[in-house]
Amino acid sequence: MAGSEERIVVAPDPRTCAHEVLMPRWRGPQAMDREGGAMGYVCHRCHVEFSPSAASALRTQPPDSGAGA
Ligand SMILES: [Zn+2]
Repeated sequence: MAGSEERIVVAPDPRTCAHEVLMPRWRGPQAMDREGGAMGYVCHRCHVEFSPSAASALRTQPPDSGAGA
């Protein structure tokens, strides 16, 4: 252990994270005004990146606990 006070933030396990907060990643500043301008989405908690279609599926399908498929 070094004397650093910098804490290592451990991200939640992507397999258990509900990905409730998805932050869009824009192609550029000009794309931020357009619907569908995002090139992808990143979960604010576990930092997993999703494609727009995957993010859309997450929003329409709430995480089902116990679905181990
Ligand atoms: Zn997540």
